[in-house]
Amino acid sequence: MATSHLRRLIDLWLGTDSAQRLRLRQTSLAMLLMVLSVAMLHYGVRIGGGESGLLLWGWTVCSLGGMAVFYAAIRSGWSLRAGDPSLTGAQIAFAICAAALGYAQAGPMRGACFPVLTLILMFGMFQLRARSAFGLSVFALGLFALVMGVMAVVQPVAYPPAVEIGHFLMLACMLPAVAVLTARLSRIRRRLSDQREELARALAQLQAIATRDELTGLPNRRQMQALMDQELLRSQRHGYEFCIAIADLDHFKHVNDQHGHAAGDLVLRAFAQASQGALRATDVIARWGGEEFLVLLPDTAMPLALAGMERLRERVAELRTDVGGGAQVAITVSIGLTGHHRGDTLAQTLERADRLLYQAKDGGRNKTAIG
Ligand code: GH3
Ligand code: MG
Ligand code: MG
Repeated sequence: MATSHLRRLIDLWLGTDSAQRLRLRQTSLAMLLMVLSVAMLHYGVRIGGGESGLLLWGWTVCSLGGMAVFYAAIRSGWSLRAGDPSLTGAQIAFAICAAALGYAQAGPMRGACFPVLTLILMFGMFQLRARSAFGLSVFALGLFALVMGVMAVVQPVAYPPAVEIGHFLMLACMLPAVAVLTARLSRIRRRLSDQREELARALAQLQAIATRDELTGLPNRRQMQALMDQELLRSQRHGYEFCIAIADLDHFKHVNDQHGHAAGDLVLRAFAQASQGALRATDVIARWGGEEFLVLLPDTAMPLALAGMERLRERVAELRTDVGGGAQVAITVSIGLTGHHRGDTLAQTLERADRLLYQAKDGGRNKTAIG
């Protein structure tokens, strides 16, 4: 119960979109860091004997308010219009400014700004490109140099110039190192994402190879077997009928003998395309082997199935395939069509369709035999 309330609260804070949640989680962490830094600065000012006047409170409001604005910009979806919806670069630049102004007020506690600054730049490791990381480091270094210089002149007792030079030199070593690490991570990230894309492409290609017949582009035997298994289960569950047909091209050997194997391949492709066009979108035709094709007519009873197969047969008979050299090849197809009987196995139905196909062949070819 308590956990479901907590989950709802977290959903309210982060939303439900996973990419947005990631961005908001990052920003929430940055906000937490900002709150801690603000508390630290207030403590620093107090122990340093500084005044917690308008400047400090103005800085506090701007720092916390700025982070709240970033949160709102992301949570509302407004930042989706930006080049980088996580607003990482902008958040880091803002936090660097806040840290630099904090440094000017922290007095003896100002050394604490350095690890905070490093942490701020580390937020870029997950998102920034190498160039932005270097740019932000240079920006931070320049801004801190300016603040250190101004403070050394304005408050030389609290910010002795010699100490500030030391601080600056330390930053000048530290910040480029963070940028180098960020750049290296950015390269690793890019390589990983390239590899992931390549893998997804290869997987899609493999899937196509595993389920499609290369010559005709139709589903292959294995895919058709899986589709029929599925259809059998569905028909058992919902109690509807489905039909299966085996179609075999007539005298296809003659095509190969007269025009060559390549011409035969062209005819097979043309047949595949024409029959797909003749069938309904829900029917599936697959290459079962050689010049034999299997048609699955889901959720279809015999009269409608017969009409569909006759349409296919007639369309094929009208087909003329250019096989080069001005020659055209006409073909016909014989079909054995049967409905799946309740309680039969798929193998029994296929056997029946095969027997009917041979009846159609014996009956003179270019025919559909049903049973
Ligand atoms: P029928 O009317 O009795 O079916 O006569 P048919 O000549 O079609 O006889 P059969 O089914 O025995 O012959 C099929 C021929 O199809 C034999 C084979 O060389 C050819 N064939 C099978 N696969 C391919 C293929 O991928 N490309 C080409 N070009 N020919 C193929
Ligand atoms: Mg044949
Ligand atoms: Mg055959």
